[in-house]
Amino acid sequence: MSKTIIVWFRNDLRVRDNEALYQATQDADYIIPIYCFDTRHFKQTQRYGFPKTGKFRTQFLMESVKDLRYSLKDIGANLIVRTGKPEAVIYSLAKYYDVDAVYCHEEVCSEEEAIEIKLDRNLETVNIPLSFFWGSTLYNFDDLPMDIDALPDIFTEFRKSVEKKAHVRDPFPIPKVQLPPDLDIDTGKIPTYNELGLDFEELEKPLFKGGETAALQRIKHYFWKTDQLKVYKETRNGLLGLDYSSKFSPYLALGCISPRSIYEDVKKYEKERTKNSSTYWLIFELIWRDYFRFVSVKYQNDIFKTKGIRKLDIWSRENPVFFEKWSKGETGIPFIDANMRELNATGFMSNRGRQNVASFLVKDLKLPWLVGAEYFESLLLDYDPCSNYGNWNYVAGIGNDPRENRYFNILSQAKRYDPDGDFVKHWIPALKNVPSSRIHEPYLLNETEQKYVQMHLGKHYPKPCLDIHKWQSRKKPKRR
Ligand SMILES: Cc1cc2nc3c(=O)[nH]c(=O)nc-3n(C[C@H](O)[C@H](O)[C@H](O)COP(=O)(O)OP(=O)(O)OC[C@H]3O[C@@H](n4cnc5c(N)ncnc54)[C@H](O)[C@@H]3O)c2cc1C
Repeated sequence: MSKTIIVWFRNDLRVRDNEALYQATQDADYIIPIYCFDTRHFKQTQRYGFPKTGKFRTQFLMESVKDLRYSLKDIGANLIVRTGKPEAVIYSLAKYYDVDAVYCHEEVCSEEEAIEIKLDRNLETVNIPLSFFWGSTLYNFDDLPMDIDALPDIFTEFRKSVEKKAHVRDPFPIPKVQLPPDLDIDTGKIPTYNELGLDFEELEKPLFKGGETAALQRIKHYFWKTDQLKVYKETRNGLLGLDYSSKFSPYLALGCISPRSIYEDVKKYEKERTKNSSTYWLIFELIWRDYFRFVSVKYQNDIFKTKGIRKLDIWSRENPVFFEKWSKGETGIPFIDANMRELNATGFMSNRGRQNVASFLVKDLKLPWLVGAEYFESLLLDYDPCSNYGNWNYVAGIGNDPRENRYFNILSQAKRYDPDGDFVKHWIPALKNVPSSRIHEPYLLNETEQKYVQMHLGKHYPKPCLDIHKWQSRKKPKRR
């Protein structure tokens, strides 16, 4: 008797190094690959009611699903697309087509786990097993050299331990996939924004195109065409342009590429081109990503709670005026505003920018860190619950930062990482005539509101001294 398995795609929108897909082709004759747009992902965030998946990520997701369908067609199958609740949709398809099993990759956060549990219970009623695979990290969960309860709370300890005692598994090859020959099914369309209840227009020029094909092109560009990998360690704190860092994060978040595939390419690059501290540093950063995922497994819902994983009280208070200024990029601190405007315009912000705006929200504006984390959740192209909430815990001082009371001095950060103010001028064109020596001074946007914010910022910030209107209307002196 022939065997059929449903492969439920989630944040693993790829055919390369996809263990669930590969294993299904080893265990069964026929595969039914399915992606279900979960309607709950398009509602509001839990506490502050921002759109849970903003327009940048929604479009990226749609492109990624579309691309997965093409890739599956290339290897002999198709992708069945549905919209609804996966625990109901996958269950009814599994039951209707009387499949032998459902395979998928395991997630680690509570919302995703709740769906897994519900689906498992539903499938149990019809005796269809649900099997999980671990596919999102560089190091496999089963290869960790420690029990999850003993996961070190300091990254360096974790890194040294995995580097010494664990190994990175080889990626899985792309399999040949066959749909059941007599499968009578509507393959389904990618939903429109409207069908998802969203009020967005398609972006004409998104920063990145979603999908495995684009992810592979990005690697090709960053490693092989431009050799940027060779200098990654020196450029990674950059702010302007696409190539100061890898920009793999949106692809990793949706699983359009696996960290193991990136690792394999780094190793190839080291063999064929150069092996140096930069090639190592990219792997180092992927280990950070792993770390936050394992921290989420260890601490579960604590990463989403006000007191964080260290269960610490930090003083904060809601202040809608401050939040609005922060989120719109209108605080009057050029470096903060430029970064927030970049996020609002593109769905992306550099790591340096994220650290600064997060620190500013928590330590200077004294807003609850969760409002910032949820805002990021809504807007980030590369949003991933473990990396986002893990990093916010860290910056807020309730996470894995071994240093007590770390404080980012925004003005000195700005001078260090944007010495000529090119980044600030790019995102706040009204400041373009300000000389580099004064570009990071707080500026006046609207005098009354600005003073209100300024009054609360205290000693670290000089009074706003740049009148934006003055600089805007300033004419260049005529050349003689
Ligand atoms: C407050 C805050 C929130 C963040 N939220 C997210 C998020 O939701 N999703 C996300 O992927 N990253 C998040 N990061 C981490 C980091 O900023 C991004 O991964 C990075 O900027 C993505 O750009 P890149 O791919 O060019 O990174 P590169 O510098 O090229 O790094 C390569 C890869 O390493 C991983 N990585 C690098 N730094 C980190 C880090 N600090 N934590 C976890 N992984 C890292 C990413 O997967 C990244 O793609 C956050 C950082 C902060 C401070």
